[in-house]
Amino acid sequence: MFGKLLAGFMVVLIVVVAVVLINTLRVSSLQKDVASIKPIDIDEEQVANHLAEAIRLETVSQGAGLPIKESEFSRFHRFLLTRFPLVHKTLSREVINNYSLLYTWEGSESDGKPILIAAHMDVVPIEDDTQANWTYPPFEGVIADGYIWGRGAMDMKSSLTGVLEAVEYLINDGFAPTRTIYLAFGHDEEVGGPNGAAQIAKLLKSRNVRLEFTLDEGLVITKGIVPGVDKPAALIGLAEKGLASLRLTATGKGGHSSMPPPHTSVGRIGRAVARIEDNPMPTSLALPATQTFEYLAPEMSFLKRAIIANRWLFNWLLVCKLEATAATNALIRTTITPTMINGGVKENVVPQKASATLNVRLLPGDDLDGAVSHIKDVVDDPKLKIDHGSKPASDASKVSDEKSSSFAMLHKTVLQVFPDVVVAPGLLAGRTDSRYYQDIAENSYRFLPMRLGPTDLKRIHGTDERISVSNYTEIIRFYVQLLTNSK
Ligand SMILES: [Zn+2]
Repeated sequence: MFGKLLAGFMVVLIVVVAVVLINTLRVSSLQKDVASIKPIDIDEEQVANHLAEAIRLETVSQGAGLPIKESEFSRFHRFLLTRFPLVHKTLSREVINNYSLLYTWEGSESDGKPILIAAHMDVVPIEDDTQANWTYPPFEGVIADGYIWGRGAMDMKSSLTGVLEAVEYLINDGFAPTRTIYLAFGHDEEVGGPNGAAQIAKLLKSRNVRLEFTLDEGLVITKGIVPGVDKPAALIGLAEKGLASLRLTATGKGGHSSMPPPHTSVGRIGRAVARIEDNPMPTSLALPATQTFEYLAPEMSFLKRAIIANRWLFNWLLVCKLEATAATNALIRTTITPTMINGGVKENVVPQKASATLNVRLLPGDDLDGAVSHIKDVVDDPKLKIDHGSKPASDASKVSDEKSSSFAMLHKTVLQVFPDVVVAPGLLAGRTDSRYYQDIAENSYRFLPMRLGPTDLKRIHGTDERISVSNYTEIIRFYVQLLTNSK
């Protein structure tokens, strides 16, 4: 009897091992066979100076509802007019809501579907008391040590001036597009984009414009960030998570703290927050995160490839690994993060009211109602009030089609200009202006080919934001090639 069991077990084991091996060996690269192109000539000094000049203009978004420095935005417009003369001679330019800009480069054929490249001209402020930590002052636009330094170098004046340098180059080169190309530059992305990109999108919609695709900021070329992949990974965002803010409020009887009730409102809020942290939303490994692995697995070691190619057996292991770091955890679940807490007025007074703010980032497929009912379940305090925060919530975006011809074109473009990278679709945990255009676009891509290593991520919105001159010229070459390929 035992012998038969053992024999049966051995057969099952051999079959499992065989299936795992076959699945692993069947994984083949999804990278395209693309020849790299000879880099076009770019005057590095001149383009770096232009970007440095853009950084010197303090186009800061202070915060929703706060006034902006009008003169800086007007100077920014004038800077564009003087530095990109061919663009302004050839493309039509509209000013939307005083500060945002929409350029139209009319195509020669009326049946080609237009495309739109988006960027924002505003930047985040410098956090109080951090100015002195910068190697070079954030608004001086210093070029040193092979880098252009300052606020907006990465997020995202390098994209805005980069695409204009590309168009200037192409016009000078005699290029004329067959399909219409829009360049949409919002002025308030850092405060949600309601007056910039949202209004540009509305205008295009009213003109019945249908876009084949949009390209905006989002993911980048990472080096040493994606575990298991040695080559730099160019991640193209096919979707972005949604964002909402929720407020928990506990109210109770006040009184003197010498005769306290067993639980005060501060205690109940504390308990609720702890329960939310201890009971995250369930994981869901879905599109487009699954595609990230399909594209990257063939580039990984045998063992990692075996795990990804055999999710029927190893899904738990993969999820376990992804949950272990904050960046990958954000790709597989809706996150609910307590970010603010308030309550109490005096040391010896039982507080009547306490509250907490939760920042919710929704995975494609999840909605806010689901997150609220999860919170209600885990908090298990029916008297706790949950309401929506002051900011309007947005659902996760649609997931763009990785099988589309525009994704294939983007994939090819990246490999032509960056022959050292592997390309993969990805999910963006943050938000971009792209979501405003998704109703009028077949697909929305979120990608700017900045090369970032593990220590660079904190520079975005942080101290010592910078981009290397060589990477900046690569960005310009990328836009030139993209516009050429999508002619
Ligand atoms: Zn940005």
